[in-house]
Amino acid sequence: MSSFPSTGIRRLPPTVNEPIKSYAPGTPERAELKARLAAMETECPDIPLVIGGKEIRTGITSKATSPHKHGHVTATWHRARPEDVHAAIKASNDARKEWASWKWEDRAGVLLTAADLLSGPHRATLNAATMLGQSKTVFQAEIDSACEIIDFWRFNVQFAEQLFHEQPISGPGMWNQTDYRGLEGFVYAISPFNFTAIGANLPTAPALMGCTTVWKPAGTAILSAWYTLQLLHEAGMPPGVINFVPGDAATITDILLADRDFGGVHFTGSTAVFNSMWKTIGANMGTYKSYPRIVGETGGKDFLVAHPSADAAAVAVAIVRGGYEYQGQKCSALSRAYIPKSLWPEVRDRALAMIAEIKMGDPNDFRNFMGAVIDKKAYTRIAGYLADAKKNATVLAGGGCDDTTGWFVQPTLIQTDDPSYRLLCEEIFGPVVTAYVYDDAKWLETLQTVDQTSPYALTGCVFARDKDAVADAHRELRNAAGNFYVNDKPTGATVGQQPFGGARASGTNDKAGSKLNLTRWVSARTVKETFVPPVEWRYPFMSAE
Ligand code: NAD
Repeated sequence: MSSFPSTGIRRLPPTVNEPIKSYAPGTPERAELKARLAAMETECPDIPLVIGGKEIRTGITSKATSPHKHGHVTATWHRARPEDVHAAIKASNDARKEWASWKWEDRAGVLLTAADLLSGPHRATLNAATMLGQSKTVFQAEIDSACEIIDFWRFNVQFAEQLFHEQPISGPGMWNQTDYRGLEGFVYAISPFNFTAIGANLPTAPALMGCTTVWKPAGTAILSAWYTLQLLHEAGMPPGVINFVPGDAATITDILLADRDFGGVHFTGSTAVFNSMWKTIGANMGTYKSYPRIVGETGGKDFLVAHPSADAAAVAVAIVRGGYEYQGQKCSALSRAYIPKSLWPEVRDRALAMIAEIKMGDPNDFRNFMGAVIDKKAYTRIAGYLADAKKNATVLAGGGCDDTTGWFVQPTLIQTDDPSYRLLCEEIFGPVVTAYVYDDAKWLETLQTVDQTSPYALTGCVFARDKDAVADAHRELRNAAGNFYVNDKPTGATVGQQPFGGARASGTNDKAGSKLNLTRWVSARTVKETFVPPVEWRYPFMSAE
């Protein structure tokens, strides 16, 4: 494709966060989504690999099912063979020169088109796929597979423009410039199951900056990943820029990380997997053409700490919304709460009353607040934690599981007297909140406990009306969370408003959907041009007195 033949300096369309639709009874979006859900229940696409724009069906297939109805197959998907992974590397290498030579505004135009397609004609499809494939309620799907993706695509374009505007100063007689080159190697994008938006962002952020990519989606989110890819192609993403390679993670990863042209990894998922990739990259360092960029957002053990001055009603709502929305499977989900003795009876009773009202089931029934957890592996892991809690702590609400039709885990509230109890330390990734009740007089000590209890540092929040207490929390918990909330739950980060990412064992904190993240996908070239070069080699100081 040739570039847009414009000599004007193009100004971007204005960027605002995509409004969240309500899906209330009687709205057109509700009718459209219900119709799309009903149709998708019977469709069952046969999902291929897409390499260099070509669909490849390997014949080695897996079935995707609905977590809330595990007998229902939503799609069949083809798994990559080693030769397909090598073909994906070649396709991304072949596409790189052309894609990198596009004017950046033309690359941006693809994403802006994709954002508008999603805002309009593709919205119901991507939301329905996320509801059926990942068991999100309509609201959880809307804020993920519609709004967050649209925001990633529109805001990243704006952030890229800001970055490109960063240019060096020039002295007289010269012109200094920074050329933001895409990486000279492919970017490996590996996405988790829990956000359709992460799958959409991991390959497209590097692509915007001129990189070509190999995208391995999670098998448990294959349906929404497939519709995302189709949308991007419809928006004009050229063949070879995003090569879609689902399959066995370890095999695919081993091949990609052993390749000379591996330029970087854009990962979101668990800490253990990211650590293993980092080790492999370290061991392969002699192989690569360039030092690879390693970007990973990983696990969390997200906290709420309430001061005695906090509003008990607000704390209880934060526990319920922060802990149980999307079945506690947000990386930012609240999973440990520290409540002062004086506030605990009211917080507990309010939370228990709300939990008793929560409806859980098939997201097709819009009255449900929760769906099922993603798969059998997650169900078994969470059930193990619940069994432990029944023995070693007090289960105040929930604690039950049912896998008859889907992977359902009740919203669970646990109380422990042991601040180092494993349910306060380990990532569970399910609808389980563990509370520790502290003596009101031990506020500062409790903040230190919160800071030191888990290896993660992703999100956390403090509830307090006393401003000195808020200041204490800022000071003591400064390194305990990459996203910190005051009098708000620790979930619900919005692109452009709360750039997302954590430190310690929670990742490299490159803040998805921000300029910081985009800088990782460029290798800056500094250019100095001298207008009239000197023709005399001697300097004036060398002249005779
Ligand atoms: P996961 O680590 O199991 O899988 C993530 C991706 O890695 C998937 O595509 C998976 O197939 C792949 N993978 C698995 N084994 C691999 C291997 N050996 N080599 C390379 N890739 C491999 O995580 P998940 O269950 O999909 O997602 C949940 C995890 O993701 C939680 O730990 C959660 O905290 C984290 N998460 C973090 C953020 C964040 O921004 N920090 C956001 C979402 C999810």
